[in-house]
Amino acid sequence: MTSQATGSTVSCADPEAQTTLTVTAAREAILANINPILTTQRLALRDALGRVLAEEIVSPVDVPGHTNSAMDGYAIAGSDLPEQEYRDLALIGTAIAGMPFSQSCRPGECVRIMTGAPMPTGTDTVVMQEQVSLIDDRQVRIGKEHRSGQHVRQAGEDIAQGSVVLTPGKQLAPADLGVMASLGFSEVGVKRRPRVAFFSTGDELRSIGEPLSEGEVYDSNRYSLYGMLKRADVELLDLGIVKDDPEALKRAFLTAAEATDLVVTSGGVSVGEADYTKRILQQLGEIHFWKIAMKPGRPLTFGRLENSLFFGLPGNPVAVMVTFYQFVLPALHYLASGTPYLPFTLPAVSGFEIRKQPGRFEFIRGILSRQADGSLTVNSVGQQGSGILTSMSRGNCFILLPEPCDGVSSGDAVTVQPFSALV
Ligand code: AMP
Ligand code: MG
Repeated sequence: MTSQATGSTVSCADPEAQTTLTVTAAREAILANINPILTTQRLALRDALGRVLAEEIVSPVDVPGHTNSAMDGYAIAGSDLPEQEYRDLALIGTAIAGMPFSQSCRPGECVRIMTGAPMPTGTDTVVMQEQVSLIDDRQVRIGKEHRSGQHVRQAGEDIAQGSVVLTPGKQLAPADLGVMASLGFSEVGVKRRPRVAFFSTGDELRSIGEPLSEGEVYDSNRYSLYGMLKRADVELLDLGIVKDDPEALKRAFLTAAEATDLVVTSGGVSVGEADYTKRILQQLGEIHFWKIAMKPGRPLTFGRLENSLFFGLPGNPVAVMVTFYQFVLPALHYLASGTPYLPFTLPAVSGFEIRKQPGRFEFIRGILSRQADGSLTVNSVGQQGSGILTSMSRGNCFILLPEPCDGVSSGDAVTVQPFSALV
């Protein structure tokens, strides 16, 4: 068993050992244990928005299907462009999108053409209407400032027939629905969504709507988790609050693992409670108890419960969110799509001093804003404790301070991860 803070390969052979891992090593160990979902289903095009494409989309047609005008103007043969000051051409008809000009255009002739209309036979160039003078309703005068072939969209210039347009694993965005519609597809094959069960553990937890006695707190984690999971577009099974009681926990773990791909819990993995949860989990699956060199969110439990992946997140409300975003979200992404998760980050300038010891990865909550000169500055949300959930609510990004960083001065360059990109 390796027990190291910097290695990138992690053995999962001995779940008993308390391994300390870097954030990167933990994420890699998690991803190495995931088999992406293979089951597919066919959906109507609109229902596929946000879903993971399961098939290669090959174009059965050229898009655009015919060479057409990019402008309102006059279609001519490029060879008719004047070499001298101007040339007068005979106007022989009109081409409108959906109403093509069906005859041929011969040398010395032109056709009035609207945007999107197919180019009449014999033409290959469009002169914008603003750049011609009408001599009368049968003759058009064209100047010399033109280029043969201008303002024409070639058939297949967007998508050529037989070309691969979309590849499996892509999360379908609005433009993808439009692209598939432009090819005439009414249905598409997508991956089944991950099914995720989640619950909170703790004797002190109460559900909203119940009165609080001394020492009790409302279960807020299940709401943050719900929000993050909902955004991740998974099928949800909310199993509520489970007491710190071996039998109740065992039952909850088994119910959660049944027919789900992934189980997430919060609480019960900190020192003291860990031993207790550990015993139950180890009876049910192959579970690893990690200390991660990070703040917030040091303890993390990861493994397999029957056929489900299992994440036991810390109980502290900020730690839950940080560990979800750094570990569960990449896992869900890979599970759903089979493609690597690439975190979206931005460079910014820190507007404040941040004290930090080297050795662990810190996720500071910040407020990112754009300055008048276009640069990005990140400022403090104030209190940063792992129980201060309002820091996540006030903030709009994590300031990422990797292990070697030994603090930040006001004006220093930092890397931020916007919450809005965490989906
Ligand atoms: P634990 O990891 O169970 O030791 O919990 C650490 C801290 O987080 C304690 O202060 C708990 O009361 C708090 N906590 C645990 N679970 C929740 C929850 N679901 N909602 C709000 N606070 C929680
Ligand atoms: Mg607890």
